Amino acid sequence: MPTVFPNASFEKMETPFYFYDTELLRQTLNTVTTLAKKHDYQVHFAVKANANPRILDEVRAAGLGVDCVSGNEVRAALEHGFDAKKIVYAGVGKADWEINLALDADIECFNVESIPEMEVINELACKKGKVADIALRINPNVDAHTHQYITTGLEENKFGIGLWEVEAAAFKAQSLSNINLVGIHFHIGSQITDMGAFLALSTRINELQKWFEANKIHLSVINLGGGLGIDYEHPDQLSIPDFEAYFETFAKHLELREGQKVHFELGRSLVAQCGSLITRVLYVKKGQKKQFAIVDAGMNDLIRPALYHAYHKIENISSDKPTQKYDVVGPVCESSDCFGKEVVLPETSRGDLIAIRSAGAYGEIMASRYNLRNFPGSYFSE
Ligand SMILES: *Cc1c(COP(=O)(O)O)cnc(C)c1O
Repeated sequence: MPTVFPNASFEKMETPFYFYDTELLRQTLNTVTTLAKKHDYQVHFAVKANANPRILDEVRAAGLGVDCVSGNEVRAALEHGFDAKKIVYAGVGKADWEINLALDADIECFNVESIPEMEVINELACKKGKVADIALRINPNVDAHTHQYITTGLEENKFGIGLWEVEAAAFKAQSLSNINLVGIHFHIGSQITDMGAFLALSTRINELQKWFEANKIHLSVINLGGGLGIDYEHPDQLSIPDFEAYFETFAKHLELREGQKVHFELGRSLVAQCGSLITRVLYVKKGQKKQFAIVDAGMNDLIRPALYHAYHKIENISSDKPTQKYDVVGPVCESSDCFGKEVVLPETSRGDLIAIRSAGAYGEIMASRYNLRNFPGSYFSE
């Protein structure tokens, strides 16, 4: 479903801003919930991908739970009416106040990333006379074949409990009286398009399950995290990711025990394609070897290209003249403030509107005020 930009109404608006295609968002959420229901899977939205209040409202209306990675995300989820029993909380460095906040709210589950953290949750829960449900976040040492900054499931990454200490962590959890071990959790990285990585994850989980079973530790939840990638090259042709193939991979390869529930934590795949960063061309500057389209959005509005060398499709939505090549750059005083090099665009002039596509995930939420610039606005199609 191609996103249609209402250029006429954009003309009057102050740029830059994020534009969200509400219909595409709803279709995406509807697709994922329908397929999840078929498999009896439960999907949590990873709030860190986009915490825009309207997005959270749409996600809640679709019936999804949430995956949080900070106390303030837990708070935001509660404020947006999410059922505490659908909130899971991960993160390698949970502060005491964050754990207390989640304990007070009686969230569904803490995804625990180390033995010392488990001990602290136990101690804080004990003070409150509560028993916290936890899952062990295990680092499965599976290569996600994605960018090094967004791979999380390798031994060299800081995340999760290493395979060598799973046994110790499980026995430790059993010995602590104010935590209750309910499951195991994994998240191997982001923007994963190779289903082989998820197959490898399934195989690793199957091995781990045998150990838990042999030790009579019952697991009721297998949480597979998120990471499903999107097609940044073709935002209109492939606007809804292939959730079917993703779920089928696990349905086929993951060996479940009786009564086990499967959870997912999807971020990017749910919200990336519905969002575009809309910016105006300030100047076209011609160099000796190249020309620059200098736009009024900068790396502070969308940091992914500067941070991860991420590709975003860039379109001039005002011009239909013959094409030329431009480096599309922002106004921030950093050479990395560049959205794309040698981008083929219709001949571009001052005042043209540019859409930087597939920016709905890890876009607006990562905006900063670097250079004391304003935060970008946001605008929904309905
Ligand atoms: C970031 C994150 C996710 C979501 O990842 P996506 O690639 O956006 O789907 C899920 N779970 C955890 C623990 C995360 O940190």
